[in-house]
This record gives sequence, C-alpha cells and structure tokens, in this order.
Amino acid sequence: MKRPALFIDRDGTISEEVGYVNHPSRYKVFPYSAEAIRRLNKAGWISVLVTNQAGVARGYFAEDMIGAVHEILTRELAEGGARLDAIYYCPHHPSVGAEPYRTDCDCRKPKPGLVLRAAQELDIDLTRSWMVGDRYSDVEMAHNAGLRAAFVLSGYGRGEWEYGRARWKLKPELVAETLLETVGAITGESDSWEKPSEGNFKTR
Ligand SMILES: [Mg+2]
Ligand SMILES: [Zn+2]
Repeated sequence: MKRPALFIDRDGTISEEVGYVNHPSRYKVFPYSAEAIRRLNKAGWISVLVTNQAGVARGYFAEDMIGAVHEILTRELAEGGARLDAIYYCPHHPSVGAEPYRTDCDCRKPKPGLVLRAAQELDIDLTRSWMVGDRYSDVEMAHNAGLRAAFVLSGYGRGEWEYGRARWKLKPELVAETLLETVGAITGESDSWEKPSEGNFKTR
C-alpha cells in the first residue's frame, strides 16, 4: 500500500537559514530535526527533502557542495536515530548562469517536479501527504503538487507570516513554530483526516 510522505524544505525548515550555504561550515541542522524525522520514521511516514539550490546555477558553489552538505545532514540525523528516505534538489535557475544549470526546469519550487518524481520513485500517496516549508513558495508548491501545506515560523517563516501573508492567495492548512511541531500535528491524525475548514486555520 502506498504510504504518505512529508516533503521537507531544507534551509529555514530542517536547518538554519543562513543565506547561500557555500561551505559546509555554514550548515547548521536545527537541534530538534533528528527527533522530528525519527518520529516520522516510527510512524511509517516517508520523509523526503526537497530543496532549491540555485547557488549552483548562480556560480556560488559547485554541485558537489550540495552533496557535502547533505552528508552532514544525513550524519547528524543518523546520530539522532533518524533517516530521510530521499533527498531531491533543483540546482537550476531560469535566467542566471550557464548551461546546463540555466534552464527553465520543471523542478524549481514552486513547480512540483521534485515531488512528482519522488512520488513515482518511492510509491507515495500524495493525497495523504504534506509539504512543510518556511516560504510562501513552499505553500504554492504544495498546492501545485496536490499536497497539504504546513508553514513553519522558523527561518524566513515568521517574517513572511507577519509581513507577507496579506498578499498570499493560498493559505497553508497548518501553521507551526517548527518542523517538530509540524510532525506532531500531522502524525497524530487518523487515515480519515479531512481538510480543515476555514475555522480550523490556526492563526497567531
Ligand atoms: Mg526554506
Ligand atoms: Zn530544476
């Protein structure tokens, strides 16, 4: 049977938002992330990292920097008994840099390409799955992929929430302080979870 997944943004959601991570020394995993992923593992959820890394197209770092950073993430999660099922990234930019990275790809969030690829390769039930991120573009991506959206206030989240959401066309189904709080909320649900009505929309 297909399983649900939590698609997880990287910078600002599972690790600190520090601008472009152009050296592994700049990469800092949030202290609660291993617990969050471990809970997903235990609950039988698939966990998938989906991240835009246009710093490659912009020439700020080589593509293998992304691999080095994800080795750190994987190792720190493993030390906390946690494991991501897969990591997908988009190194492209539609208008900056040189080919092959300068391309109008289908995988740069908010396009749904990374999620659709993961769903095929990992046999994911998208109708029961969620996306979590700290930017409005993550909410848009969730919508474009047919996922429910959780918005976290870590990273850029609090600023976007307080100063940006008046302009948002889409609302996330859940707003949480952190990735850990998000995981607690979504895995506590039954399989017959229904989309919340307007009144269930959590505001702060
Ligand atoms: Mg982010
Ligand atoms: Zn791409």
